[in-house]
Amino acid sequence: MQRADKQVTAVTPTNGSNGVASSTNITATFSEAISTATVSGASVELRDPSGTLVPATVAYDSPSRSAILDPTAGLSFATTYTATIHGGATDPRIKDLSGNAMAADFTWSFTTSAAPPPPPTDGPGGPILVVSSTANPYSRYYAEIVRAEGLNAFAAVDLSTVTPAILASYDVVILGEVPLTAAQVTMFSDWVTAGGNLIAMRPDKKLASLLGLTSLNSTLSNSYLLADTSTAPGAGIVNQTIQFHGTADIYSLSGATSVAALYSAPLAATPNPAVSVVTVGPNGGHAAAFTYDLARSIVYTRQGNPAWAGQERDGFTPIRSDDLFFGASSIDSQPDWVNLDKVAIPQADEQQRLLVNVVEFINRGRKPLPRFWYFPRGLKAVVVMTGDDHGNGGTVGRFDSYKTASPAGCSVANWECVRGTSYIYSNTPISNTTAAAYNAAGFEIALHTNTNCTDWTPSTLQSFYTTQFGTFATTFPGLPAPVSHRIHCLVWSDYSTQPQLELARGIRFDVNYYYWPMSWVADRPGFFTGSGMPMRFVDATGTLIDVYQATTQMTDESGQTYPATINSLLDKAIGPEGYYGAFTANMHTDFNPSAGQAGSDAIVASAKARGVPIVTARQMLTWVDGRNGSSFQAIGWNGTTLTFSVAVGTGANGLQIMVPTTVAAGTLTGITLNSTPVVFTKQTIKGVEYAIATVAAGTYQATYAP
Ligand SMILES: [Zn+2]
Repeated sequence: MQRADKQVTAVTPTNGSNGVASSTNITATFSEAISTATVSGASVELRDPSGTLVPATVAYDSPSRSAILDPTAGLSFATTYTATIHGGATDPRIKDLSGNAMAADFTWSFTTSAAPPPPPTDGPGGPILVVSSTANPYSRYYAEIVRAEGLNAFAAVDLSTVTPAILASYDVVILGEVPLTAAQVTMFSDWVTAGGNLIAMRPDKKLASLLGLTSLNSTLSNSYLLADTSTAPGAGIVNQTIQFHGTADIYSLSGATSVAALYSAPLAATPNPAVSVVTVGPNGGHAAAFTYDLARSIVYTRQGNPAWAGQERDGFTPIRSDDLFFGASSIDSQPDWVNLDKVAIPQADEQQRLLVNVVEFINRGRKPLPRFWYFPRGLKAVVVMTGDDHGNGGTVGRFDSYKTASPAGCSVANWECVRGTSYIYSNTPISNTTAAAYNAAGFEIALHTNTNCTDWTPSTLQSFYTTQFGTFATTFPGLPAPVSHRIHCLVWSDYSTQPQLELARGIRFDVNYYYWPMSWVADRPGFFTGSGMPMRFVDATGTLIDVYQATTQMTDESGQTYPATINSLLDKAIGPEGYYGAFTANMHTDFNPSAGQAGSDAIVASAKARGVPIVTARQMLTWVDGRNGSSFQAIGWNGTTLTFSVAVGTGANGLQIMVPTTVAAGTLTGITLNSTPVVFTKQTIKGVEYAIATVAAGTYQATYAP
């Protein structure tokens, strides 16, 4: 019988991959069994860009027919390595059990990830500068906002350190809600007059003249705004009123143009701007204002009304995350915190995208600012599939249904396989060995903590955590420590203790914000926290907590119908509305068949029909951390060509770059990577056309012509 030649059939990391962990091993799988004696550091090599051999241990794993190269030390960051499996005519080379050698060398390369990112309150460096003050921690949340929007080319500094010389090296300043001295007003005014682009958030009144506004000495709180979608930068933003939270100052326009107008009610316009922009001086500078504090508004919309923290508002004990949003309390009836008539709109996300449009608009005379797309490979939606199992043991059956629903030969790393998370009680009947096997196959099994559905205090919650995470670790030594979490009954007895205690345990992804109860949800699909994006929590002072809030928008106990709910969410994400999102579901994994299984089946079918992946909470965390840890480096502009490179964070598999196709200098004529043309697509995102391409290692040049 003619046999296929000995060859390499699969490798990790894959050829051309980027953002590879510096701790990686290198594996090559062969088409047939190989002679162990021929697998060595001489026949399996890894070399750095200068051709130097990387010291490593090389072994052969017979069951998987794989050579495994384990570098002695961690690889360097952001470095392209080349691996070679030697074949050909002379030893050392790979041979099969009959002594026949592989016909030729097999070579591939990959690039390691960027160095670990700075703390989440900092950025990787300009041309955007976030200016904050320790007196108002919300002012630093703009770092999280611009990062979430993929503008990962910013630095963040305290106002007290800002000097004219520092300002001169930035294109755009986002100034948080902070009081300014007269000298600081002069400093920013001089910089704008010289061509700088300032965006001031709920500005100090002393900036009004620069901003082209006149203060009317009144305010409007917790109300609405409407973007002017007839022209940039409002074009592409939702053409309906959306809510802001916190206080807006009332101004009239004195030279500025309104980008968005304040509304005193959903249909009650005012003549006063919510967002304005004006051109300043002869050098193309701009001064833009959000008359409310966008960061505080985003946080309040996402996390609920801090004044309602610790209140039992919906009448269903214990105090849950939804109580921070539930208006119709029997003791204190008020409007819902997020107007559920508008729940289909990701109101916080739309306001962040209005900020991005303002940034690109006011900077178009200086240079195009590159961004990262939200999800891998251009995806506009992702399902984060989770379920809770209260010791009943439906987890295995559910996971097996996901295996069955996955395409043959799918890649977990590329989000091709259907995968899910099960939050379980430690007494759930599943063996450590079985749990470890599912974990190795890409499923996630983590702890469903239990307070017996009663309210906690910070100390009792800590005690529940200590006991139950301890038992979980003892029961399932084959599982990694949990990195995501849902607590039984969504108990959320104050404002931010839960994510603070999670962080202390290395849990970075929280799915406790939960669209419930049924009478309140009224089967309306949407975003009750105003967002489809995992973003970091803050505490009650506005100080960032390094844990992502991923709201559970779909449950099997909120009276939501399926597939109508998932169809609505996904169609608005991938359709003209552009309501992109990571849509988290809790489809209980207690029993099969069950409402959870039926909902899960409907969600999987809906997502598959739309090309939307279904992933675990852990996979989503890996992606978000990797994307947020990626950055644009060495951004330059010579008047027609934008130059930059990308440091890809660990886990940002499938990261894409975006550059606006039109700036003042002209329209995009092409993009090259290391002088070779790059294939890109053009897409209009929230009214702005971008060229979008998958990231690779090297130097990009985007060229514009009139
Ligand atoms: Zn539960």
